[in-house]
Amino acid sequence: MSITLSDAQIVTPDGVHHGWLTIEEGRITHVGHGQAPRNGHSLAGQTIVPGFVDIHVHGGGGAGYPAGSEEQARQTIAFHRRHGTTTALASLVTAPLDHLKKSAGMLAKLCAEGLLAGIHYEGPYISAARCGAHRPELLRAPSATEFADLIGAGDGHVRMFTLAPELPNALDAVRECVNAGVIAAIGHTDATYEQAMAAIDEGASVATHLFNAMRPLGHRDPGPITAAMTDDRVTVEIVNDGVHLHPKVIDLVLSAVPTSRIAFITDAMNAAGMPDGDYPLGPMKVEVRSGVARLAGGGAIAGSTLTMDTAFHRAIHHNNLTLPQAAAVTSLTPAKILGLSHEIGSITTGKQADLVILNESLTITGVMKKGTWITQPTP
Ligand SMILES: [Zn+2]
Repeated sequence: MSITLSDAQIVTPDGVHHGWLTIEEGRITHVGHGQAPRNGHSLAGQTIVPGFVDIHVHGGGGAGYPAGSEEQARQTIAFHRRHGTTTALASLVTAPLDHLKKSAGMLAKLCAEGLLAGIHYEGPYISAARCGAHRPELLRAPSATEFADLIGAGDGHVRMFTLAPELPNALDAVRECVNAGVIAAIGHTDATYEQAMAAIDEGASVATHLFNAMRPLGHRDPGPITAAMTDDRVTVEIVNDGVHLHPKVIDLVLSAVPTSRIAFITDAMNAAGMPDGDYPLGPMKVEVRSGVARLAGGGAIAGSTLTMDTAFHRAIHHNNLTLPQAAAVTSLTPAKILGLSHEIGSITTGKQADLVILNESLTITGVMKKGTWITQPTP
């Protein structure tokens, strides 16, 4: 069966043009300019962007991955798909090792079903000084056997590991990641510039939510932020929710780092899409007030209530990115990080038809995954 979407503004890496596209067997088979050769589903001038790729997300819609419940994991995936995330990692937070392994085993099944692109362990090998919303008494230094166990528990589906490179044995863990095809991400870290560079030299290639839960940038103490921003081997994660980072700090990053090295993430927790209230983040209690998630008692920021459609909207309206640039930081760059940019990440002939339809005010009206509508746009 073939689907033609016509009368659309199509956002490609090279620019935006008015035209049409055809989808067959879940793939984009033609992308054309102007009038479609045959009548299709008219989008009446709406915009098509590539489906969003979120490499750091814990929960949403009242459910989350860290609970280790399959039902909650499925709810989280469905919630973020409605907001345009067609590819995602499932992020766990620091918890007892048995719980982490059990959760990874459950998530591995959903990866095998094609619902998730992999598992992301955030912790437990992170800095107590920069633990944010991670439970301090559960933090530890990596040991080779333990580390291999955690990766093994994901049955080949662990894709990312956030760790602090200054911990004992952490550089061995980075090497272990690289050997196992797992992205080593520097985060929740008090590393100096030199310590961060040592990890990058071993193959660490992502900075987890740049600036947040990291040794701050000082003019004589450049730290992990400068290491990540100035080294071409590293992609930086940005939480663009208006809370985690001042918009001008995001502008500063955008002026120094090309969009091919910036991935917008949600770092969303269970309260995304939900009213204010009390929610769990793994073993921690989180209070959400005015959409801002903090540890109970007015503590550290504890994830976000962001969704990728809002991150995209903010990229245009708060950071003045062009549509192709916004598509790069929400889709193509994170797809590259996952090694999936030959399949997803842009509207290109031959790639999987993972698409988001946005109206004039950049609100989602449709979401398609592999040629099947998750939400069908009204013309
Ligand atoms: Zn996180």
